[in-house]
Amino acid sequence: MMEIFATSGLINGIVSSAFGILIIGKNWRERANQIYFLMTISLAVWSFSYWQWLLSSEYDMAFFWIRLLSFGSLFIPVLFFHWVTLLLDKRSINSIILYISYISIIIVSFFINTEFFIESVRQISFFTFWPIAGFAYDFYFSFIYLGLISYTIYILIRSYNSEKISDKKGQILYILIGSLLGFGGGLTNFPLWFGIPFPPYGNFLVTAFPFFLGYSTFKYKLFNAKTIATEILVFFISIILLVEVVLSKSILETILRGGLFIVISIFGYLLIKSVIKEISQREHIQELATDLQKANDRLMELDKQKSEFVSFATHQLRSPLTAMKGYASLILDGDLGKLSHEIRNAIMRIYDSSNTLTNIVDDYLNISQIELGTMKYYFENVDLKELVADVINELKPNIEKSKIKFSFEVDIDKKYMVNADKDKFKQIIANLVDNSIKYTPFGSTMVSLYKKDGKIIFSAKDTGIGIAEEVMPRLFSKFSRANNADKQDIHGTGLGLFVAKEIVLAHKGRIWAESAGEGKGSTFFVELEEVI
Ligand code: ADP
Repeated sequence: MMEIFATSGLINGIVSSAFGILIIGKNWRERANQIYFLMTISLAVWSFSYWQWLLSSEYDMAFFWIRLLSFGSLFIPVLFFHWVTLLLDKRSINSIILYISYISIIIVSFFINTEFFIESVRQISFFTFWPIAGFAYDFYFSFIYLGLISYTIYILIRSYNSEKISDKKGQILYILIGSLLGFGGGLTNFPLWFGIPFPPYGNFLVTAFPFFLGYSTFKYKLFNAKTIATEILVFFISIILLVEVVLSKSILETILRGGLFIVISIFGYLLIKSVIKEISQREHIQELATDLQKANDRLMELDKQKSEFVSFATHQLRSPLTAMKGYASLILDGDLGKLSHEIRNAIMRIYDSSNTLTNIVDDYLNISQIELGTMKYYFENVDLKELVADVINELKPNIEKSKIKFSFEVDIDKKYMVNADKDKFKQIIANLVDNSIKYTPFGSTMVSLYKKDGKIIFSAKDTGIGIAEEVMPRLFSKFSRANNADKQDIHGTGLGLFVAKEIVLAHKGRIWAESAGEGKGSTFFVELEEVI
C-alpha cells in the first residue's frame, strides 16, 4: 500500500519537473514563467521527497526526507499566489500580502529542523513513519495552506466572472480546475499530521496542478475540448509508462518498458498533432464560411438596393410614357385635326414605340417587385375565356399587322373559371400570345382553352421559329433570349417569360413550353386549377 502512495509522489515529481522545464524553456525572461518554474521546483522537491520518504525503511532517512518535503511544501502556496497575481495583473493590491507571506514562510522554514514544526515521527495507518505537526506547522496549515490558497482561488473566481475575453476566461478556468484538484488532493495529506487516520488518497490528484496550470500558460489559445482531451490522455499514458520504466527491476525490463514508452509517446505526439491540425483546419473553414456569409449578405443587400432603384426608376418612367401614349392616340384618332399621311405614319411609330417601352418598363417593374417580395396579388374568380378574348382584342392591331393566320379555339358554351389576379394574368396571356405572333414570321398561330383532369389549360401554338433543345432549360430564366429571337424581334428583353413563370407559380399553376426544334414552331402552356 505504501508503494502506491510513494508512486503518487514519483508521478507528481516527474510531471511538475517536466512542466517546469517546458514553461521556463518557452520564455525564461518572463516573470510569470520564472515564478511558475520555482513553484514546480518546490513541488518536485516535495514530491520526490514524498516518494523517497515512503520508501525509507530507516527512521533517520525518513526524517530527512520529511524535512526536505516540508521545505518544498512551504513555498508552493506562496509561489502559486505570486504566479496568479502576475498572470491576472493584480500585483499592486496584493503585494503586501505577498511580502508578508514570503517573510512568514522563510521564518517558518527556520523551524523545520525543530520540534516546533515536526513534533515527532510515528507509525500511523499503514505508514511506518509519519510526522506529527508542531505549532509552526499549524500556522503554515491554517494561514498559508488554507488561508492563502482560499484567497487565491477567490481572486481567480472573481476574475473568471468579470473576464470578457473568452481565451483569457478559458485560461483562468484551467488554473481554477488545476488548483482545486491539486490543492484539494494535497489537503488529504493533512489529517495524518494531526493524528486523524485518513490516508492521503487525494495525492494522485496533485499531478493535475502543474499540468493544468502549465497547460493554461502555453496552450490556452487552442482552447478546444477535443485537443485537450487527447493531450491529457496521451500525457497520462506516457507518465504511467515512464513511472513503469523508473520502477523496472531488471535491465531487460527497463529496455522493454523504455521502448514502449518511446513508441507510445511518439504515436501520442503524432496523434495530438493530427487532432490540432484537424481542428485548425475546421476553424479555418469556419472563418471562410463566415467571410462568405458576410460577402453574401453584402451582395444580397446590394441586390435589394438595385431592385429598389429599378422599382423607383420604372415608376418614374411610367407616367411620362402614359402621357406620350395618350397624346399619340389622341392625334391618331383625329381629335386634334386632320393628319397628312406622313404625319400619321410618324405618330403611329411614336405610339408603337411608346407601347413597346411601356411593356419593357412593366417587365422591369414586375421583376423588381418580385425580387423585393413586394408583388401584390388580388385573387378573384375569373372566366379565362373572357380574359383571353379581351387580350386578343387588344392585340388585334398586332395580329393584323402580321401576315399569319390567327385562330382562337374555345367552347363558347362553357365557362373556364379560375382563381387569379386578373390584371397579372392578362399580362401573362398577352405576353404569350404576343410572342407567338412575334416569333412567327409566316404560317399560323392558334390559341386555345380546354379542360383536363380538373385543370384549365391555356395554350398558344405557333408554326414559327421554334426553340432549340439547348435553349429549353433556361427559357424561363431572367434575360434569357435565344439567338433566333434576335433576328425576329430586336426589342425583346428576355424578361417576359421569367415574370410569367413567377406569376403562374404564385397562382400555384404550371407553365411550360414544347417545341420540336428550331424552325419547327412551338407551343406554350399555362395550367391552372379549375374553380367550380
Ligand atoms: P422577349 O420576347 O422579350 O425576348 P420573353 O421572356 O417573352 O422575352 O421570351 C424569352 C425568349 O423565349 C425569347 O427571346 C425567345 O428566344 C423565346 N421565345 C418565347 N416565345 C417564343 C415563341 N413563341 N417561339 C419561339 N421562341 C420563343
